[in-house]
Amino acid sequence: MNERQLSERLVRVANYVPNKAKVADIGSDHAYLPCYLCLQSDMREAIAGEVNEGPYQSALAQVKKVGLADRISVRKGNGLEVIEAHEVDVITIAGMGGSLIASILEDGKEKLTGVSRLILQPNVSAQDIRKWLYKHEWTLLFEEILEEDEKIYEILVAEKGNDEELYNEDKDRKLLLGPYLMKERNQAFRKKWKYELDNWKRILKQLEQAQKNQERDNKQKEIESNIQMVEEVLSWEKL
Ligand code: SAM
Repeated sequence: MNERQLSERLVRVANYVPNKAKVADIGSDHAYLPCYLCLQSDMREAIAGEVNEGPYQSALAQVKKVGLADRISVRKGNGLEVIEAHEVDVITIAGMGGSLIASILEDGKEKLTGVSRLILQPNVSAQDIRKWLYKHEWTLLFEEILEEDEKIYEILVAEKGNDEELYNEDKDRKLLLGPYLMKERNQAFRKKWKYELDNWKRILKQLEQAQKNQERDNKQKEIESNIQMVEEVLSWEKL
């Protein structure tokens, strides 16, 4: 991977960034995504945010190497603390767990004023992001699921708005699986959820051996309900 040859996962993220935009990429590591975005369009500017010193230094070096220091500001800091409210139009957060992405959004929610689009790419637990978006009135516009190098990734794109209609039926299942992804049910989707089903069934067996208490019962019920929701979707006819 480099600033011109991104992974498929990051190319898909980049595809949702408008041609003219100021973007903050949070957790930017080598700043490959901001560099790629700015090389693709002269009308883009970016901020690369990184909390850790090593990746921050890599991002600084990368931006210097490709001569984009006048359009990409590399900043060290935790989550959205590297931006001001109204400073960017688009935020990308990729390559982390869904709960970490949701907590970055939650901790920095006052910085989202003026942001028109969020492009989020969780490696796991996308439902934590869907729940956050729903609660804070960001409407889910697009979802993708893809497999690359034997790993499965999801991409969620949201803009400000209310999702009552999208979730007015079957809300828990849609939050878990993704309202658009469960409609499409592509190969990566099926693979991911078959794997999760096997995993949950293994956990259920272990729970059966564990000492009975309220916590165990709640966990068991939650997993059983998830298994039922997912098995039903996987049994639906392919569209
Ligand atoms: N976004 C790149 C990608 O998708 O390839 C890099 C992903 S890398 C696995 C995650 C990066 O996020 C790491 O460089 C890590 O230091 C950074 N990170 C983790 N938590 C962060 C936070 N709260 N704020 C900023 N950066 C964070």
